[in-house]
Amino acid sequence: MAAVETHAHDVLVIGAGGAGLRAAIAAKAAGADVGLVCKSLLGKAHTVMAEGGVAAALGHVAEEDSWKVHFRDTMVGGKFLNNPRMAELHATEAPDRVRELESWGAVFDRTPDGRILQRPFGGHSHARLAHVGDRTGLEMIRTLQDRAVALGITVYMECTITKLVSGPAGATGAFGYWRTSGKPVLFTARAIVLATGGIGRAYEVTSNSWEYSGDGQALAYEAGADLIDMEFVQFHPTGMVWPPGVRGLLVTEAVRGEGGILRNKDGERFMWKYLPEERRAEYAATDEEAARWVTALSEGRSTDARRPPELSTRDNVARAIYTEVKEGRGSPHGGVFLDISYLPPATVRRKLPSMYEQFKELADVDITAGPMEVGPTTHYVMGGIRVDAETGATTVAGLFAAGEVAGGMHGANRLGGNSLSDLLVFGARTGAAAAAHAASAPSAPYVDPVQVQTAVTDLATPLERADGEDPYAIQRDLQEMMGRLVGIFRVEADLDEAIIGLAELRRRWRTVRATGGRSYNPGWNLVFDLDHLLTVSEAIARSARQRTESRGAHSRLDHTATDDTTWNGVNSVIFRARDGAMSVGTTPLPAMTDELRSLLRTGDH
Ligand SMILES: Cc1cc2nc3c(=O)[nH]c(=O)nc-3n(C[C@H](O)[C@H](O)[C@H](O)COP(=O)(O)OP(=O)(O)OC[C@H]3O[C@@H](n4cnc5c(N)ncnc54)[C@H](O)[C@@H]3O)c2cc1C
Repeated sequence: MAAVETHAHDVLVIGAGGAGLRAAIAAKAAGADVGLVCKSLLGKAHTVMAEGGVAAALGHVAEEDSWKVHFRDTMVGGKFLNNPRMAELHATEAPDRVRELESWGAVFDRTPDGRILQRPFGGHSHARLAHVGDRTGLEMIRTLQDRAVALGITVYMECTITKLVSGPAGATGAFGYWRTSGKPVLFTARAIVLATGGIGRAYEVTSNSWEYSGDGQALAYEAGADLIDMEFVQFHPTGMVWPPGVRGLLVTEAVRGEGGILRNKDGERFMWKYLPEERRAEYAATDEEAARWVTALSEGRSTDARRPPELSTRDNVARAIYTEVKEGRGSPHGGVFLDISYLPPATVRRKLPSMYEQFKELADVDITAGPMEVGPTTHYVMGGIRVDAETGATTVAGLFAAGEVAGGMHGANRLGGNSLSDLLVFGARTGAAAAAHAASAPSAPYVDPVQVQTAVTDLATPLERADGEDPYAIQRDLQEMMGRLVGIFRVEADLDEAIIGLAELRRRWRTVRATGGRSYNPGWNLVFDLDHLLTVSEAIARSARQRTESRGAHSRLDHTATDDTTWNGVNSVIFRARDGAMSVGTTPLPAMTDELRSLLRTGDH
């Protein structure tokens, strides 16, 4: 076997978004030698795109806020499928993680008395999102990146991991290639943290960039880890719908948080119709009450007015928009109207500078003067790798996961702002746990040379084929099929068709051919992304077929009710059967303490 460039670390972190950076910082602080790998340039992860803010019960705007309310909101938003211990740790530790970020140099927007300002978001009972205008992720990643570099963490940029090397002792290595040269590279480690983010590229209309191809979920699954709740894919209600080149690009929930009103083509404020009956009392009863809430918000004072109906949870708003469009009440380009132009132009530009520029530059629309056109876009995956709440340990020894790639925290639906806090809380915990694992593991982990050689061969094969499938054709067919058959609304017949279709796409992928050389070759790179996308798409379709109810982001037209008799407290699990086939089953939600249960029962704030 030809020698493969190799780097050894105590802890290898794959992914340099918020979760990966925070994990790397924690592992380094615990004394580990840390390597950090990312597909693109450092700082160019999804975290940098986050706009609205990071949720933490700091109580700076609403003094009555507390971790208990945040915990409850998160569980209610997740339709009680969240791992309760994760939701508890998240709610209790997020404020400290945000203050820590501030102490490392993050400059958040301020209240008049100089504290971190917080804004409201859908499903949060109080103004809870610490933010920097609508560029929160940029500030967060800048701060974490500076800290990681200052600590001397070794960063490997433009490097894609395609396989984990594992054996009886667990995960001991990660194999990949340099995007610059296409040459193979191997990392050996005593603990590996997956922090590779989501799966949005399985769908055509998505707010996610090319990097979100489900790599971490697929790598973990191939190495023997369980995936949970993969049916829960979040379709964000507001993405751009026009022009076609930017379809899916996110329109931050902060627009609705600052008072944005949704209307259909008839000018009807349709969200009044879609509020779930059991939660209606939490929302304003009239336009006038909603307007009072917005005015109080913009003046920075508290009010007894309740929040506008546009601040219902994302799953609900996405279904409402989809239904309005489907029933013929959509905007000219197949969306609905979102209007913030009734606020003073200077306020809109100050609160939503990126949105102002985004619409001006890309759609020639001035959002201070008129409405935007918006529609649902694939945004986030609640499901992911099954992890231990305290440590982020997966079901494979030595393999950890944090951030969007991990499942459990958000249940059936994530509240906006809860991802950035998730990254900080569980990134820190997972990095520390990985360092502790590495300290107790053998100093020279065994890395199976046969697996490495197979991975080297797999890299070369698509370039060596004289004939074969075009990777772009497979990608196009995959995305079209996932949107059509495994989208916002699902039925059994469609899901069966998708599972058969995915097997056919996998068959085509086995003969895929890439042309050109290895250096910065997007077609060749896509071959490996597709491998992962096909795995996660199958996991989504199989989990969605199994869950014969509607809950959170998973809506079945043939099972429209939430079935608490069969499905309450039940997570779905994807695992690899002995024969190598993907299997789906269920597992009970981890037990909840009496204290947490009482918070849900009484709504004790
Ligand atoms: C437009 C947009 C706006 C958002 N706004 C908010 C918000 O306001 N508040 C909020 O809470 N959440 C928001 N979210 C969600 C949130 O940003 C993400 O869930 C979160 O940033 C994910 O962080 P992460 O660290 O898990 O992954 P990422 O930040 O995406 O990082 C993933 C990393 O993994 C690397 N990687 C992936 N695959 C491989 C591989 N095979 N080999 C090597 N490296 C790999 C990537 O290069 C990258 O470095 C938003 C998301 C989007 C897309």
